Amino acid sequence: MSKITMTTPLVEMDGDEMTRILWQFIKDDLILPYVDLKTEYYDLGLKYRNETDDQVTIDSANATKKYGVAVKCATITPNAARMDEYNLKQMWKSPNGTIRAMLDGTVFRAPIVVKGIEPCVKNWEKPITLARHAYGDVYKNTEIKVPGAGKAELVYTAADGTETRELIHEFDGPGIIQGIHNTEKSIESFARACFNYAIDTKQDIWFATKDTISKKYDHTFKDIMQDIYDKEYDAKFKELGIEYFYTLIDDAVARVMKAKGGFIWACKNYDGDVMSDMVSSAFGSLAMMTSVLVSPDGNYEYEAAHGTVMRHYYKHLKGEETSTNSVATIFAWTGALRKRGELDNLPDLMAFADKLEKATLKTIEDGKMTKDLALITSLDNVTVLNSRDFIKAIKETLDNM
Ligand code: NAP
Ligand code: MG
Repeated sequence: MSKITMTTPLVEMDGDEMTRILWQFIKDDLILPYVDLKTEYYDLGLKYRNETDDQVTIDSANATKKYGVAVKCATITPNAARMDEYNLKQMWKSPNGTIRAMLDGTVFRAPIVVKGIEPCVKNWEKPITLARHAYGDVYKNTEIKVPGAGKAELVYTAADGTETRELIHEFDGPGIIQGIHNTEKSIESFARACFNYAIDTKQDIWFATKDTISKKYDHTFKDIMQDIYDKEYDAKFKELGIEYFYTLIDDAVARVMKAKGGFIWACKNYDGDVMSDMVSSAFGSLAMMTSVLVSPDGNYEYEAAHGTVMRHYYKHLKGEETSTNSVATIFAWTGALRKRGELDNLPDLMAFADKLEKATLKTIEDGKMTKDLALITSLDNVTVLNSRDFIKAIKETLDNM
C-alpha cells in the first residue's frame, strides 16, 4: 500500500516528559506507516528552549504563521523547581502564552465523546466546545486595599491631557478597589476567531455577558460581537444554517445544563476559566480534551488540553509501567492533518484523520483503554493497557478497518 502524500509541511512542536514519549509512539505506530509525513520540526522540550534562549518557541510560532497549521506536544512551564531540575538560565515563559500572544489567538477546547465514558450531565449528547477570551479583565487587574475613609475615583487621562473622572465609592471605612480593562482590538480578534471557528466546525455559537448590570464594560463586548457578526458573518451563517445566539451569562449557564451539546460556548476571560473546568470535568477526563488555538487570520495550532503528565514520567524513568492516555494527543495530530488536508485539498489525508479517530474511539468502545478511563467507564469487562500497548491496540483496530 502506498503512503498518503502531503504537499505542505505541518509545523511539529515537540515537548516534554511523558507526552514527549507518547509523541514518538504515536508517530511511529499510527502515522508514519500510513502517511508520507512532511513536518518542519521544532523541539520545544525545555532543554532545547533553554539552550536557544527560548528562540525556538518564537521560531515555531513564526513557522505557524508561515504554513498555517501546527501540532504541539505538551510542554513544561518552568517554575522554581524546574529551574534546578533543568539548570535553567532563566524562568522561561509558558510556550503556550508566547505562541498565543504571537498568533493573537483564541483557544477552543472540546471534549472527545466516546461510548462508555458518559458525561455527568445526562442530556449532553454531543461535545460542548468552550472558547475563552484570553486577554484582560481580572487577569490584568490593578488592586488597592483601602485602609480607611476616603474617596476612590476612576480617572482616564487622554493623550491631550484631558481627564475623565467617575466616582467609584466614598469610603467611610476600610475596603477594596479593583481596576480592570480590555481593548476593542482584542475583543474584535476574539469575535472573528469565534465566528470563523463556528463556520469551520458548522456549529452554533453562544456568547454571554452581564450587560444588564455592566452597562458599558460588558455591553461593549456584546456590541462588538453583534456588530462584527452582522457586518461580516450573518450571510455565511445563514447559508450554513448555523446561529449566533446572545444571552445573559446566568441564562446561558441554565440553558447549557439543559442542552444536548453540539455548539460552541464563547466566554469572557473569567467565565471561560471557570466554565471550561466545569465542562471538561463533567465530560469525564482531562485526558479526553482537545485544544486548538485559532488566530483571526486563520492559523491553527492543535494540542491536547492536559500537561506533560509528570507523575507518570517519573514512574517511567524508574522503569515502572505507565498507563498514560494518548487520545487527546492523537486527536491533536488528526486535527492538524485534517486541517492540512482541507487547506491543500488532499481528501485522502482528511479521510485518514477521520479513520484514525474512529479507530481510537472503537478501541475504547471495544473495552481496551488506559487506567484513567477504566476507572470511570460504564463498560464491563475492560482490559487496562499500558501506554505503549494502548497505542498498539489502536494500530490493530486501524489495520482491521
Ligand atoms: P498534567 O500533566 O495535566 O497531569 C495532571 C494529572 O492528571 C496527572 O498526574 C494524571 O493524574 C492526570 N492526567 C493528565 N493527563 C493524563 C493522561 N493523558 N493520561 C492519564 N492521566 C492524565 O498536569 P501537571 O502534572 O500539573 O503538570 C505537568 C507539567 O505540564 C507542568 O510542568 C506544567 O507546566 C505542564 N503543563 C503544560 C500544558 C501545555 O503544554 N499545554 C498544560 C498544562 C500543564 P494521575 O497522576 O492521578 O494519574
Ligand atoms: Mg483555570
